[in-house]
Amino acid sequence: MHDSSLNQSLTLLAVLAHPDDESFGMGGTLALYARRGVAVHLVCATRGEVGEVEPQLMNGYRSIGDLRVDELRCAAGKLGLSDVHFLDYRDSGMAGSPENQHPQALVAAPLDEVAARVTAIIRRLRPQVVVTFDPVGGYRHPDHIAIHQATVKAFYAAGDPAVYPGEDPPFQPQKLYYHTFPRKWLSWAVRLMPLFGKDPRRFGLNQDIDLLALTRDTFPVHARVDYRAVQSLKEEASACHASQSSMGTSSRPLQWAFRRATGVDQFMRAYPVPEPGLRERDLFAGVNGTR
Ligand SMILES: [Zn+2]
Repeated sequence: MHDSSLNQSLTLLAVLAHPDDESFGMGGTLALYARRGVAVHLVCATRGEVGEVEPQLMNGYRSIGDLRVDELRCAAGKLGLSDVHFLDYRDSGMAGSPENQHPQALVAAPLDEVAARVTAIIRRLRPQVVVTFDPVGGYRHPDHIAIHQATVKAFYAAGDPAVYPGEDPPFQPQKLYYHTFPRKWLSWAVRLMPLFGKDPRRFGLNQDIDLLALTRDTFPVHARVDYRAVQSLKEEASACHASQSSMGTSSRPLQWAFRRATGVDQFMRAYPVPEPGLRERDLFAGVNGTR
């Protein structure tokens, strides 16, 4: 195993959509690399402006976006992130919601515009490894899919001086990963939910997540990162997102599935194209650490 311990020249860039994606998703991996001395940066495309928040949490805040940025700053501190970079788009809400049509919505932005912004950040930070959502954005959130597509475009554009030319010189990161969540435990949970009076096709605060459909989206797993050494940091970071915390706790089978899935993050490697049977345990395996 490649040792990325205390290597100040290594940089990891995670490109995600909303405040909370970093903690509820790959937070364990981010905290693990930060603790090893890797500079871990987060791009957050929106401020999570859309959704319901309990009124008492809004005390002292002018908007949901302000509250959620504060929650993200709290989580970033727990995870040990070097910095958070906002792209200043607006949360698009779930598929088909009126928020999709807002002129600042991430899904309303041209792909090339978003990709150019991510490219500029890659050239400035010079990460060896870039991580983002899988092609269906984990659970088909339109913003997750949009930022996935922009990140893929940016990853390949960043090293090409002819594409999205900007202030900084071209820089080609060495590896691109998609975080995927384990379908095995989810499909068990989906089978158990009806026994608890829950409809797996209408999950979430807005009952608009079809978990059954999600179990059919499968992606190969090329890397498993064991983050149990920093699991408490992931939990502390998740607790920062108080306004979003009822999301995963509304169903006992899902709580059970999340506990089963905890401790290890799964990634599909998009670049370099993996050889058959690839099983990595370190996203920096084989990486040349000079910037
Ligand atoms: Zn999200």
